[in-house]
Amino acid sequence: MKMWEKLIAVVVLLAGFAAAAPAPVVLDIGHQSNSRGAASPDRAINEYKFWCTYVGEVKTAIEAAGYSCVITNRGLAPTDKALAAACQAAGVVQLNKPDKGAVRYPSSHYPEHIGCGMVSADYAIDLGARCVVFLHLNSVGSKWSTKPPTGLIICNRKHGAALAESVCAVMRQDILDRPGGMPNAGKGIKVLPRYIGSQPSAGWMNALDEAGIPAIVFEAVYVNNRPHVDFIRKDANARKLARTLAAGVIQWLKQQD
Ligand SMILES: [Zn+2]
Repeated sequence: MKMWEKLIAVVVLLAGFAAAAPAPVVLDIGHQSNSRGAASPDRAINEYKFWCTYVGEVKTAIEAAGYSCVITNRGLAPTDKALAAACQAAGVVQLNKPDKGAVRYPSSHYPEHIGCGMVSADYAIDLGARCVVFLHLNSVGSKWSTKPPTGLIICNRKHGAALAESVCAVMRQDILDRPGGMPNAGKGIKVLPRYIGSQPSAGWMNALDEAGIPAIVFEAVYVNNRPHVDFIRKDANARKLARTLAAGVIQWLKQQD
């Protein structure tokens, strides 16, 4: 075989591998190392730090069920050594484009959609993601409360509802107000679709909708709610929460197969 024939054979082989690569579930760690999102009143828990620490547990469960999974974060790698080690162990892809303040910018794929953190949505579109889960914790004000508000799972309007409903159902069945589970004062979780035009800051969800990719924002746990924080500050419970979220995603994936 001549050199150019070998080269063509290699290119054809690589193209075959690329075509066969399964579409991954993308888990995106919300916020960034220099802007960590909502924090508990005692500063023990914040959303960015929590998900840097536990996103690997979600990914491991999804991969164990036979699905491909990629973790992203729009910012730079954490400077904190323990968080950096956790992100490295989990294989977090740092997109190295931290948002500066609340600057909104257009999607590279769908420039009519504008929002913060668009780089994560664009990367998921580049990957042809099967779905995207944006990992957050929520807060209502900065003072402790003992009654949780109804938690939210936000979804993109056209494609995300079934994924959101699946995660809600598994949360209700496996962890909310269950023995050994997360106290939730009998409250449920609400699925909240975000509409194009009505929520300009949700442009990243809308860009994924245009690409036909189901996407949800996990906002079911409140860092100003003391029972929630008392639950998730224990390592075993945080891992349980991460695995419950994964189980909701896996249930949806199986329904799609
Ligand atoms: Zn957040």
